[in-house]
Amino acid sequence: MAAVKSPGLILKKIPFSDTSLILKVFTRESGLITLLAKGAKRPKSKYHGLLDFFTLDQFIYPEKSKSEIHVLLDAGLIREFPRLKADPVRQSLGHVFMELYLKYVAEPAQSHPHYEMLLERLEQIDESGEGIFDPVLHLCDFLLGLCAVSGFSPQFTECVQCGRPAKGFRIRMDPDFGGPVCAACAGTGAGGMAFPGRLLKWLGRVQEMGARAGRLPREEESLAEAFLLSFLGKHAGGARPLKTLDFYREMLGSIDMRADPPL
Ligand SMILES: [Zn+2]
Repeated sequence: MAAVKSPGLILKKIPFSDTSLILKVFTRESGLITLLAKGAKRPKSKYHGLLDFFTLDQFIYPEKSKSEIHVLLDAGLIREFPRLKADPVRQSLGHVFMELYLKYVAEPAQSHPHYEMLLERLEQIDESGEGIFDPVLHLCDFLLGLCAVSGFSPQFTECVQCGRPAKGFRIRMDPDFGGPVCAACAGTGAGGMAFPGRLLKWLGRVQEMGARAGRLPREEESLAEAFLLSFLGKHAGGARPLKTLDFYREMLGSIDMRADPPL
């Protein structure tokens, strides 16, 4: 029986019987797959200390299985993300990343760009320094990365209708077409979302340089996040509610209180 050996990241764990776990894993070699880890919940399991969220593991599983669930043959630790594992704010963001993959990437979808993107973004939120860690910036960067590896990207420079350069202090953003609508084309009663002009420029910078783009006030970044979530939903087969967003937003509230002590 031929076996595959692949690094992978666990996106979801589902208890199976009293002793086993079903894992949804994004692997480098096979994309998103389902693995059955027999006996993983036993205290003396060979998987003890492995199969955590926010670790990069090596997985060994049969190349072909009778069902869509492959039996995990062996696993080993490659590396951990210590800050991510220790910090609930970073964890809440990591879980949003993982749920976005579960909801928007088809199974099985062998794709090295998807694998590399997820791994790189988890590394970045693990490495980001204490004072500068900005979850909303990282989520916007992640959403732009997911769009790019999935083959559709919004743009932030020209009107989606007439192609003229988009500028001004107030702009309308169209999540259907993935870009700005100029004042002339918007006319009266335009749909879409109202955006400050500098937010458009900021999104262009995030698309170009990732999380190094710097920060904007939280309310504006959150508007960009809402636009990107809506754009992704429209281009990836329909918006799907994300359960992990609630906890992420609760955590955001907690760091905002830390950052702005009452006067
Ligand atoms: Zn126009």
